[in-house]
Amino acid sequence: MRIDLHTHSTASDGTEPPSGVVGSAARAGLDVVALTDHDTTDGWAEALAAGERLGVRVVPGMEVSCLLRGVSVHLLSYWHDPADPALEAMLDASRTSRRTRARRMVERMTAETGLCWEDVLAHVHGEATIGRPHIADALVAAGVVADRDEAFATLLSGRSPYFVPHTAPDPLRAIALVRAAGGVPVLAHPAASKRGSCVGDADVEAMVGAGLLGVEVDHRDHSEDERRHLRELARSLDLLVTGSSDYHGTGKRNLLGENTTAPEVLQEIESRARGAAAAREVRGA
Ligand code: AMP
Ligand code: ZN
Ligand code: FE
Ligand code: FE
Repeated sequence: MRIDLHTHSTASDGTEPPSGVVGSAARAGLDVVALTDHDTTDGWAEALAAGERLGVRVVPGMEVSCLLRGVSVHLLSYWHDPADPALEAMLDASRTSRRTRARRMVERMTAETGLCWEDVLAHVHGEATIGRPHIADALVAAGVVADRDEAFATLLSGRSPYFVPHTAPDPLRAIALVRAAGGVPVLAHPAASKRGSCVGDADVEAMVGAGLLGVEVDHRDHSEDERRHLRELARSLDLLVTGSSDYHGTGKRNLLGENTTAPEVLQEIESRARGAAAAREVRGA
């Protein structure tokens, strides 16, 4: 049983449509794949339908952008109610801020790169959640950089003069809203230090207090030492441990199934989600 619980499609900053991600998952020999686009569930219906067709189990998920003391924190959520009004309001604010921020970044770099906002929009599918990868794609198309990697290493890096942050909720608030919407929150790549600063163990402990249920340990941005440390932390905080690819299609080197999650862990995530759904039904939510 091969399970990959973190992937992106064109509903956010992946390069394949949701059905394409599921098709790629089938070809990669995965039995289960979660679609976890940034701040949106728009890809769920298409991915679930493709899963039925192709015999791949699709887990509906999302990766929620959060900020803690200026540090970017990503929170995976599985099986939450996509129509939950409070959660949707929070996500809507993030998506709007992501768009404004991307525009500002493009404005800052227009003089150097010749790039304009329309060039970026040409790489955004419909109402997709906008991220720096879309600016990267426009820069590649304009011949400014060779690929997304080069764009992120230069013009789009967090240390670049063109970088502008977007607003996002505090992870404690996001965790509470995900739980209230019946979702199972799992902290994504908490030790990915090459992306910038990371949260500390005390922060993770506070998140557990807010309702965090799992932590992504096996991820390509974590070293062996970081994985060992996170596994120990997960044990002490009684957190579920997941592993996944963070696949973005051709936009990143990450390959489907390069890290996987144990079937028992998926079972536990699912039973938590079922329990939450039953409790919400009783409350009439
Ligand atoms: P943003 O959400 O706009 O801050 O951009 C960060 C997103 O870009 C994350 O989803 C990353 O997975 C993705 N990303 C980060 N580094 C790279 C890279 N080198 N190449 C492609 N995508 C990247
Ligand atoms: Zn992404
Ligand atoms: Fe992430
Ligand atoms: Fe991701």
